[in-house]
Amino acid sequence: MVKQAESQRYIKLLRYTVYFFIISGLIAGFLMGVVRKNASPEVKVIIEWIFIIFENGIRSITTIVGFYLTIRFIKTSKGKISKFRLISFASFSISFIFLYLILPFILRFTEFYVALMPFPWASLPFQAPITGAHLTVSLTKILDWNGVVITLWVFYIYQLIALIGTIFLGRRWHCSMLCTFVGAHAEAFGEALPLIPHNKKRPRSKAVHPKMRTILFLFQIFMIVVCLALMAAWGMYFFAGTVIIPVKILISIERMKYLIFELYLMIFFMLFVGARSYCYYCPAGTLLGVIGRIAGQQITTGLTKCNSCGLCNDVCKMSIDIMSKAKAGEPVRTINCVGCGVCVETCPTGNLQFTTIFLTGYRNRKARSLLRTDYRNEP
Ligand code: SF4
Ligand code: SF4
Ligand code: SF4
Repeated sequence: MVKQAESQRYIKLLRYTVYFFIISGLIAGFLMGVVRKNASPEVKVIIEWIFIIFENGIRSITTIVGFYLTIRFIKTSKGKISKFRLISFASFSISFIFLYLILPFILRFTEFYVALMPFPWASLPFQAPITGAHLTVSLTKILDWNGVVITLWVFYIYQLIALIGTIFLGRRWHCSMLCTFVGAHAEAFGEALPLIPHNKKRPRSKAVHPKMRTILFLFQIFMIVVCLALMAAWGMYFFAGTVIIPVKILISIERMKYLIFELYLMIFFMLFVGARSYCYYCPAGTLLGVIGRIAGQQITTGLTKCNSCGLCNDVCKMSIDIMSKAKAGEPVRTINCVGCGVCVETCPTGNLQFTTIFLTGYRNRKARSLLRTDYRNEP
């Protein structure tokens, strides 16, 4: 009883953290996207600083606080937390501290957040060399064109890190260890979301309603088409100098896409549909999911016996039907799995394991070397 009250206290604190994060995000986004357009130069500077403080400071700190509260909640309610999830939390926190607090401080450049997005998400590599900006963010303001060069370098290095890691660890690498956009926020705040449970029979279920999943799937197609069209338009301009759509209109479309689908709808869905709602239609996630499948990503089932409790389905924020596969003893292979490991941690019988070709090879090598050590130590 005492433990339950304590764990509920952590959930309450987590909810307050979410409110603070959301309200400050809405204000910063509104100021930057709407008010800034017609503001005087002095007010513009203030608005830009407010946005920078939100992007670099508030996002980092609230997310790290969210991880702490989630760990406390899981420890008090379940008794322990898996190493698999702790690695996710630690990796996300290090990404935030390094990329949003230390790196901007060392390089005296505060706009890296525009570069920390996997490829289909951003037209940055084409837009920045043409306009010196991305979305509404000027990259030339402080360091002149060096700002563009630094941002592009950060962007390309980040793409390489995301791609190589995904080949080894599947979608887990980016979506559950590195993504400082929705991935980190979803894992930090997910235990307190959605704010209104939508499954009356299983109120603690994180699965998204099937009708809503259809809507999110349509969004996924829409986002892929829009991102590809935008990149094609920028690319034609960048490589051939052909202007299909005037730059001003392209920037407006990008800004609207960002504000509507990547900020306001993302926040709305996060609060009322599910913490990882954006991940259902994220273009980068779609591509990483395909690479993850090629890397052999899957949830192995059948390590023990499934007792059909359904807890794995309840905790999966990507609404994947793990139980029916577990009952049949078949692996769960889908591009939608973000590799968070919550199902693995939750299964009471220890029936599940997240793996990729690389991880399976690594575990096999480790098991063989342990066997050899045991054999040598035998009297
Ligand atoms: S799907 Fe997109 S937003 Fe979600 S964690 Fe992956 S890269 Fe980040
Ligand atoms: S199947 Fe498991 S690891 Fe994959 S997204 Fe769902 S809960 Fe996370
Ligand atoms: S949580 Fe484990 S035991 Fe329960 S349904 Fe899922 S796989 Fe089966």
